Amino acid sequence: MSEPTAAPEQVWTQATAEPWLRELLPEPVTRIEAAGGGVLLSGGEPGLVVLRLNPAAVRVAVFAQKWWGAKAVLVDETLVALPWGRLPTDERAAREVVGHCVQAAIALRKSRYFQCQRCAKPRPPEWLHANRAGPDPCQMCGLGGAAGA
Ligand SMILES: [Zn+2]
Repeated sequence: MSEPTAAPEQVWTQATAEPWLRELLPEPVTRIEAAGGGVLLSGGEPGLVVLRLNPAAVRVAVFAQKWWGAKAVLVDETLVALPWGRLPTDERAAREVVGHCVQAAIALRKSRYFQCQRCAKPRPPEWLHANRAGPDPCQMCGLGGAAGA
């Protein structure tokens, strides 16, 4: 004899989903407590993808930076917002859904990379040296540090 079940319990919240969301991201993962109780998880170095968690949803964003003077500021380039209540309750299925979005954000980010004409390494767009000392040097090369990382 089972009682009729009440409203289906919401499995995923910011707290219950964060552990497996982190695992979907490329290392290293940086965690920042955002204003208003949200959490920001950034994956990759240089960054590739950003997850913004808040009480309503997880938003998958392309990692994007702009220079504000000498300070690099993260730009919100959200690709998709996934409300917690709409994610599959099965963890494997939920991981798959968010994982595809994370991969899409990473692919978008990588499509913006340029190839440094000095060190020939693929570099993120914000590394394009501002004072072009030559044809499209990255910041490492533009600053004279030919060794590069
Ligand atoms: Zn370079």
